[in-house]
Amino acid sequence: QADMAMYAAKRSGQHTVFFSPELATGRQQRLSLETKLNHALAAGELQLHYQPVWELDSGRIVAVEALLRWQDAEGEMISPATFIPVAEEIGLMGALSKWVIDEAARQLESWRETGLELTMGVNLSVSQLQGADAARKIHDQVVSSGSDPQWWLLELTEEAVMQSPEAVMEAMRLLDGAGFRLALDDFGRGYSSLARLQAMPLHTLKIDKLFVDSLREDTPDDRVVRTVVELARQFSLRVVAEGIEHAEQARQLTAMGCSFGQGFWVSPAVAASEIPSLIRRAAPPAL
Ligand code: C2E
Ligand code: MG
Ligand code: MG
Ligand code: MG
Repeated sequence: QADMAMYAAKRSGQHTVFFSPELATGRQQRLSLETKLNHALAAGELQLHYQPVWELDSGRIVAVEALLRWQDAEGEMISPATFIPVAEEIGLMGALSKWVIDEAARQLESWRETGLELTMGVNLSVSQLQGADAARKIHDQVVSSGSDPQWWLLELTEEAVMQSPEAVMEAMRLLDGAGFRLALDDFGRGYSSLARLQAMPLHTLKIDKLFVDSLREDTPDDRVVRTVVELARQFSLRVVAEGIEHAEQARQLTAMGCSFGQGFWVSPAVAASEIPSLIRRAAPPAL
């Protein structure tokens, strides 16, 4: 193993590199993750699960967010936070993202056939937002699947915007012009300037769980959430609060004028087949 590591170091042109046992193990875990991930898509190990988004005051489920799930051949669940960065690095994110949109479109269509008119939230990666051509690919894929762009909420993070603001803005303008709705995800964690926020064709702000967590019962700190809700009102944007785990948080958010929520209090992401019964049950209104 140490020899292989030395060999790799030589090939990459490095000199005087020492490999500690831990480093070798890390590298190996990483290599095996890459190999497994390369097979995962073809082997059908990837799935989309869907997390309901509800209207806080009525409890009505109005949308879902599609979230990638990977159960590897050994049955282990690997988090998207772990494998998405790896997929980006090994050039697999394009294929993965394409699969996500196909799968989400197919599911949306099948719900619509049974009369469920849900909005489909999908997370976009940085590579899907590199200019107008990248955006056109998303548009063509959605439209050729027979879906209407206005049923989709495309989520992007401030981090993605910051990586290449010009290209991402161009992609956003095209998608917005084609009728898609756009959401800024994990809002409050990044560094969007107000000038940039004003320039972005957004429909929705998703308040990061971090700030929803601060709405505790004992020493609640609602200043950031209150400010974001007010900001959204000024910009005529919708607000979705992420990561609601307790009734008390839902209550506080409703009182502040936040309209939509998502979180384990109502449901984690579940298999598509579980969504209709969740909708029939509805979320408890937070009064
Ligand atoms: P995200 O888009 O911010 O998604 C919300 C995350 O918060 C999900 O984690 C969800 O399971 C989790 N969550 C929701 N409610 C609660 C709650 O009440 N408590 C707690 N503890 N967690 C909650 P997940 O599924 O692990 O996804 C992590 C991130 O991976 C996502 O964050 C998104 O950035 C990325 N991701 C997931 N699927 C895709 C995909 O298809 N494409 C791309 N590009 N990224 C994806
Ligand atoms: Mg998201
Ligand atoms: Mg988020
Ligand atoms: Mg988040």
